[in-house]
Amino acid sequence: MVVIMKPGYSREELDHAIREMERGGVNVMISRGTETTILGAEGNAQGIDIEKMESLPGVERVMRVTEPYKKANRKYHPDDTVVEIAPGVTVGGKKLLVAAGPCSVESEEQITAIARSVQGTGAQALRGGAFKPRTSPYAFQGMGYEGLDLLEKARMATGLPVVTELMNTDDIDYFVEHVDVIQVGARNMQNFDLLKRLGKVDKPILLKRGLSNTIEEWLMSAEYILAGGNERVILCERGIRTFETFTRNTLDLSAVLAVKRQSHLPVMVDPSHASGQAWMVERMSLAAVAAGCDGLIIEVHNDPIHALCDGQQSITPDQFQSLMAKVGAVAECVGREI
Ligand code: PEP
Ligand code: MN
Repeated sequence: MVVIMKPGYSREELDHAIREMERGGVNVMISRGTETTILGAEGNAQGIDIEKMESLPGVERVMRVTEPYKKANRKYHPDDTVVEIAPGVTVGGKKLLVAAGPCSVESEEQITAIARSVQGTGAQALRGGAFKPRTSPYAFQGMGYEGLDLLEKARMATGLPVVTELMNTDDIDYFVEHVDVIQVGARNMQNFDLLKRLGKVDKPILLKRGLSNTIEEWLMSAEYILAGGNERVILCERGIRTFETFTRNTLDLSAVLAVKRQSHLPVMVDPSHASGQAWMVERMSLAAVAAGCDGLIIEVHNDPIHALCDGQQSITPDQFQSLMAKVGAVAECVGREI
């Protein structure tokens, strides 16, 4: 349940409304937006008399909330959340965030050269996996801690904040100290222990949508992190599993619109894992920006044919440059910028 206050309500009226809700047995979350202040009930709101609540001075309206997610719900927080990932680098506002880089960190030369190149053509963050969730145990598993060191070197060389995937709760403290954005991959979207622990850290979390998860399940996973107190959650649509096999996954662009409507959290799109094919990445990126995403995360490799992971979906730095010019044009058409 949410209680919407009237414009110009007084301090006493607000306190009165909060007391009344607490008497009904819930915790109250206060969201002060640009237009209005909203009181959100956390917990079971059955004990609250809606008619009485609505008759209180200073209260405009009371709405029941049927969705199971509260903190992630736009009804509780009407304004868009803007997440700062590094000083001056944000996602969720007018400016789109573009993160680019290889699927996996492979060497110092590789990650630093790609970082420099994508930075020169407009990326504001560097992606690169050090711990890789691979389908086969025989496939390259990532460089691990050494990969994280190399990401730090690339950050030192360029100033780009780094986004990288965490798989294991044991590594949380290390990640908090060494990376800028912690990625939860599709395969861990419902690793609830991991999500609970990430609710307690002071770091932005990029939460990818699971391979076969509904929008509601995805938002409930975000809720785990928010409920723990970490409000810096960025969602990422990366394609879902459907009957279609031509593409690696099916990019669910309607999910971007749905999530932007249901939630205040920023939503990025990963056209690389969504399509699995480098030649599709540019057009899918343009479509995602047109659909209203808040940012893109794109795999870029200097030598895709020899990439240790996901070469077939990686674009070259030159292709990234051309993509960025077009993304800028589409962004302008939909009132955004890069
Ligand atoms: C990745 O970003 O490299 C990755 C493994 O993504 P996903 O979890 O979306 O498959
Ligand atoms: Mn990949």
